[in-house]
Amino acid sequence: MKLVKAFETPPNTSGSEGHKVSVPNAQILRTKALPVENVTDSTRNLLDGMLEIMYQERGIGLAAQQVGLLQQLIVIDIDYWARKQRQEDPNNPDILGAKSVHGDQPLYIVNPRIQAISPNLKPYTEGCLSFPGLFVDVNRPDEITISYLDYHGKKQTLRAFGLLAVCVQHEIDHLAGVTINHHLKGSTHTNHLVELFEARS
Ligand SMILES: [Zn+2]
Repeated sequence: MKLVKAFETPPNTSGSEGHKVSVPNAQILRTKALPVENVTDSTRNLLDGMLEIMYQERGIGLAAQQVGLLQQLIVIDIDYWARKQRQEDPNNPDILGAKSVHGDQPLYIVNPRIQAISPNLKPYTEGCLSFPGLFVDVNRPDEITISYLDYHGKKQTLRAFGLLAVCVQHEIDHLAGVTINHHLKGSTHTNHLVELFEARS
């Protein structure tokens, strides 16, 4: 996922290297990702690589399909750019910062499963690294709780709201083969998402 506010799209200082993120019409973006059986060193290598690409592309979230993988892998860091700016200019009160309620950033999410989802919908203007220049107002539940495996394969639970809830749902959409252009027609709550990723205990 990509943000639209000024502080979240700093100038590209890394030159004009080629984009590694899949193009919008790639079939893989419409294909469902498969669960990861075990979180191993090779899983961690993939997650590290995804995070690197996400930072290079100045995104705040990235799902496996966007880099040509069909595994249920997500990386998220909604506070990265604000953190960087705060480091460079610690006394500037104008740096907004999308501070996460979840202290650990970046987040590595493997095999997410939805545990709870709010009935309240909230609109947010979303961008996507796979759809440069496209921004869509999407109505999503304003709170979501997921379980997932972390970087070390340990089961974790995350209760997300605000921007983090938006980003988590945007990336889980990707794992289900759903991208923001699906939301152009004004669809709201994504039931397919719940079907595929709801917790089955
Ligand atoms: Zn996206």
